[in-house]
Amino acid sequence: MQLSTKVALSISLVVLVAGTAATLMAVQYQERVRRDEFELSSKETLNLLALTVAPAVAEGRYHRVQAVLDNVANFKSRYPSVVDIEVLDPKGRVIAALDPRRFNEVIAVAHDPYIQRDLTLDEPTTRPKGADLVLHVIPLKVTHKLGVMRVLLDQKHLRDSMTAFKRNAIALVLVTMLIAGIMLHLVHRRLVAGRLGTLTKAARALGEGKLRVRAGVEGNDEIAELGASFNDMARSIARYTEDLEQIIAERTEELQTLNQQLEQLAIRDRLTQLYNRGHFDECARRFLEVARRNERPLSVVLVDADHFKSVNDRFGHLVGDKVLQSVSKVLKDNARKADFVARYGGEEFIIVMPEAGLGLAAQGAERMRRALAAHVHQDVTELGGEAVTASFGVATYEKADDRLEDLVAAADQAMYRAKTLGRNRVTVADRSDEGPVQSPVDTKEVERDNRS
Ligand code: GH3
Ligand code: MG
Ligand code: MG
Repeated sequence: MQLSTKVALSISLVVLVAGTAATLMAVQYQERVRRDEFELSSKETLNLLALTVAPAVAEGRYHRVQAVLDNVANFKSRYPSVVDIEVLDPKGRVIAALDPRRFNEVIAVAHDPYIQRDLTLDEPTTRPKGADLVLHVIPLKVTHKLGVMRVLLDQKHLRDSMTAFKRNAIALVLVTMLIAGIMLHLVHRRLVAGRLGTLTKAARALGEGKLRVRAGVEGNDEIAELGASFNDMARSIARYTEDLEQIIAERTEELQTLNQQLEQLAIRDRLTQLYNRGHFDECARRFLEVARRNERPLSVVLVDADHFKSVNDRFGHLVGDKVLQSVSKVLKDNARKADFVARYGGEEFIIVMPEAGLGLAAQGAERMRRALAAHVHQDVTELGGEAVTASFGVATYEKADDRLEDLVAAADQAMYRAKTLGRNRVTVADRSDEGPVQSPVDTKEVERDNRS
């Protein structure tokens, strides 16, 4: 049920109760007033009538008394309440009555115990006789008691008019209540319920995340104030949300950058910025799997700087570090794009060459070796232009069940062989029978297994 309907019903109920109570009180008051008025006017009329007939009774001219009563009977409409009139002499004999046939009738005391008393009355009395009937008894006197005039009045007219009055009053209350209820409903809906509904809708929309929503509540009362406060709140929420989104976007970007940095930190070698040993293990295995699946060539080159200990010994570790950095750069610069260059540990490096058979890998290794031997370490002035060479061992994937460890071991043996043969050279592993490592190779002469 709508709020305005509830309010209208409650107020209508109050109006009904209060209105009914007030109406009943008004009706009672009216009833009393009318009854008093009726009694007063009746008494006055009856006293007048008694004064009129008394002289005729005193003179014994009963026909004149009867004439007065006949007059009343003939103009009944002027005396609507009069039911009966009888004039009695002190013995209870009817001198005159509305019905003239009752003349001389003696009303026996046994029939009416009041008669005797009425005849001795000095003052007029009134007593009820049935539902709406009232008996007025007026003593007739001139110098002595002449008898009484008894008038029976019917107050039905009074009662009917009171009933009509009550009916009208109640109808008036009901109509007033209905109109008041409808008016209250309309006024309440316009001033309160309708505007609260607008506010409720706006609040619901805001709850659903529609941050641009505003409550259009006009006026300068409390509800309008509430609407204005709601709008301020909605604006603040929108502003805070925008700020929050901005902050979240910034934080997300920062986090992404940090994550990228973390990823790089996890896979890069700090000193040389080449990939580290862990990342090599992970990636090289995948390279090998791809080569195996697609039956493509793949080679591994192990590089070891020559006499590096003496570089440290002569110039110190910091210079050694710088040299390792520039060696790394030379290796990286002379590798193919597809090659995977990593620091294997200490002054050793490893290169995975996808799509390169032994010949191509040996050529690549030779290119790097020469570049290194020819490299002037300008950023390491302490070396005084002295070259830092390295020995290269090359092994290629040949057997279907080759594991990464087998390839690295073969490349290591080939590199070791390069060392023993005088360093600063490229040696390829002959794995056809897994026999001893081949003699040092001048890469230009390497022709075999150039599968790529
Ligand atoms: P060879 O030609 O037989 O390889 O001789 P080598 O001196 O290079 O070999 P050895 O294994 O005797 O010495 C390797 C040296 O490399 C010893 C070590 O101090 C140095 N080294 C390894 N890692 C680093 C590093 O990160 N920084 C520096 N400055 N030196 C390193
Ligand atoms: Mg070494
Ligand atoms: Mg070495």
